[in-house]
Amino acid sequence: MTSEQTTQIRNLFPLLNQKVNGNDCIYFDNAATTQKPIAVIDAIKAYYQTSNANVHRAAHTLASAATTEFENSRKAVQTFINAKHAHEIIWTSGTTEAINLVAQSWGSSQLVAGDEVIVSHAEHHANIVPWQQLEQQLGIQVKVIELLDTGVLDLSSFERLITDRTRLVAVSHISNVIGKCNPIEHIIQRAKQVGAKVLIDAAQSIAHYPLDVQQLDCDFLVFSAHKMYGPTGVGCLFGKSELLELMPPYKTGGEMIKKVSFNSGTTFNVLPHKFETGTPNIAGIISFRAAISFIQAQKEASGYEASLTAYAYQQLLSIPSLNMLTNGQPDIAIFSFNIAGEHQQDVATYLDSKGVAVRVGHHCAMPLMEYLGVQGCIRISLALYNTKAEVDHVVELLRNFLNQGVKKVAKASVNHSKEKIMTLFESAKSWDAKHRQIMLLGKTLPTMADELKTDETLINGCESAAWIHITIDRESKVNIVAFSQAKIIKGLLVIVLAAVNGKTVENVSTFDFHEYFNDLGLLQHLSPSRGNGLLAIVEKIKRAVNKPL
Ligand code: PLP
Repeated sequence: MTSEQTTQIRNLFPLLNQKVNGNDCIYFDNAATTQKPIAVIDAIKAYYQTSNANVHRAAHTLASAATTEFENSRKAVQTFINAKHAHEIIWTSGTTEAINLVAQSWGSSQLVAGDEVIVSHAEHHANIVPWQQLEQQLGIQVKVIELLDTGVLDLSSFERLITDRTRLVAVSHISNVIGKCNPIEHIIQRAKQVGAKVLIDAAQSIAHYPLDVQQLDCDFLVFSAHKMYGPTGVGCLFGKSELLELMPPYKTGGEMIKKVSFNSGTTFNVLPHKFETGTPNIAGIISFRAAISFIQAQKEASGYEASLTAYAYQQLLSIPSLNMLTNGQPDIAIFSFNIAGEHQQDVATYLDSKGVAVRVGHHCAMPLMEYLGVQGCIRISLALYNTKAEVDHVVELLRNFLNQGVKKVAKASVNHSKEKIMTLFESAKSWDAKHRQIMLLGKTLPTMADELKTDETLINGCESAAWIHITIDRESKVNIVAFSQAKIIKGLLVIVLAAVNGKTVENVSTFDFHEYFNDLGLLQHLSPSRGNGLLAIVEKIKRAVNKPL
């Protein structure tokens, strides 16, 4: 792809043209969700402006137009994955719901105690917890495939696990952390030899690789529209017709029935409606077709994606202290790594202050983090609209962060008061300056005695952990000792402690943290969407002073 073609693609995505924290937006969190092209946004708007009506329910003109568009999207997905029948495509809210549907409908009706379901250490929680639930409900056994040092499923481990009690193998085509293709063709063929069914979680792969369910011969395939340039709240379950026919409804209510009667009983609708109760995400499903068309129109860009992946991998590896979680270049542009001596969250908040969106934490794959012996990692994930220039810029930012940025700051005083903090932040206008100020303050947080770091004092955010130990003395004064490995959290803790330490229980219980953080221009750190757990820290303090121990 030429640079003009890349620019043309970028121009289809309006969000990418905005500034974030005063910098050009660099969106490197595509494995979480991709941005949406204007065609998808327009399709949502057009539906509400011209054909908004409920589907499959009324005979009027608008309802018929909406239903036709809705079913055309189903046909588009059918063609996209080469399913034999349109009714093998079931709309769900996403991959998570699709797997839950299979677990609760197929699993509950087909499995009995002692049956085995095989997953792998690399699965997203969405493909672990539903099977663990069945373990509890039915007494089935969940077995886990080991990984090679590349992060790919180890087929010899799979071979050791598979038995004639194996009823289902549920694995991801590509893990959201590792970014490498698993040998699903082999797994499907081997599972068939023992009569087991196979569910493929294609959430990460389907935007990058065309999948043909007839050729693969998998029994179930699941994916989410929002990771394929489509809307949120829409997902698909492909299931082979004969299996879906056997399966009982998963949720019940309107539209999934043929007849409902208090006298002569209730009967269920035909496929696919048996699994689609209630009003679906009509606008989302209709606009999903535009996302599929976008992917199909970019077929020739697969060479570009491959060269971007190889380039980004080499550039990241050029940073000596950067350690990839697994060996070898990923097949799609998902890079998960840690940087020696740096907390993942500090790296992410620094990049965020420069307009770069990456994800850190356990990535909804806690068992994988445990397996690889890390608490979490930084993940950079690219899409078609990302460029080598963006990669260069981010690598340069990482070098700056490591070389001079936040590391060479002087040790400042530890005596902070709320007023002093307010003064410091008055002069820090930009997000960049505020970020730097938080990091400086983090340097001043005294270390916490190891014996105070207990399960009771621990607060687990998704991205980092913090410990907070609260005591109240005889004069009702609050004294808090706190710690975190992430410098950004240390800085935020200094800000919190400056406002509450040495104050009376009454003062602390009426203290308005929301207003305080708002005045400092740091309100977003108290947002429930932040994975850093600051909100949980503040809530813990409030609980302690409202109910003194
Ligand atoms: N499976 C994989 C491999 C994923 O990457 C994700 C999301 O990141 C999911 C399942 C869950 O997808 P959703 O949140 O869209 O249901």
